[in-house]
Amino acid sequence: MNDIERAIEALNKKGFKAVYAKDASEAVTYVLSQIGREQTVGFGGSQTLFETGIADALLSRGNTIYSSELAARAGADTAEPKRLGMTADVYLTSTNALTLEGDLINIDGVGNRVAAMFYGPQKVIFVAGKNKLTANPHTAIARIKKIACPMNARRLNLSTPCALEGKCADCDSDQRMCRVTVRLQYPTRGKEMHVVIIDDDFGY
Ligand code: SF4
Repeated sequence: MNDIERAIEALNKKGFKAVYAKDASEAVTYVLSQIGREQTVGFGGSQTLFETGIADALLSRGNTIYSSELAARAGADTAEPKRLGMTADVYLTSTNALTLEGDLINIDGVGNRVAAMFYGPQKVIFVAGKNKLTANPHTAIARIKKIACPMNARRLNLSTPCALEGKCADCDSDQRMCRVTVRLQYPTRGKEMHVVIIDDDFGY
């Protein structure tokens, strides 16, 4: 059994609906099949949703998307889509890391993304490339600090140690991104949670 199969088995045992996608196209097809044309969709900050073409596919189909990234690109207020995303019909996001034990590990700065994962829309769909797979919560945090944080900090033009020097210094910066860490072990009660694992690398 390979790592993707192990993670899918662990997630499904815990009550997630975990599926394999061989490429971005299969992931797009699956996500579209899970979201009605009239449904609103909240986006967690995620490069994966753009790199895979999922964002474009939803926009082309006419779904209303609440995304702070799209708002920022348009020069609009980014707080409003964060707030509206919490009450959308579906929440769509990636995950900073996904363990072979079936845990989803995320570190957030504002907190809306992680809050929406466990206490937002009734239906949540996670989309993750196989590069997000890691052995356990300990290695997940290490992966996030080593890979995701420096790349995110640079993308956001921050001046944190991870952006400037490429490694975490557990900073006290006003710009610190790492303010809340969530280990989602099981779908929270009453929620329908899907996890699509793509057999390719997306996001960071
Ligand atoms: S604690 Fe600071 S330096 Fe470390 S990853 Fe987070 S923002 Fe970067």
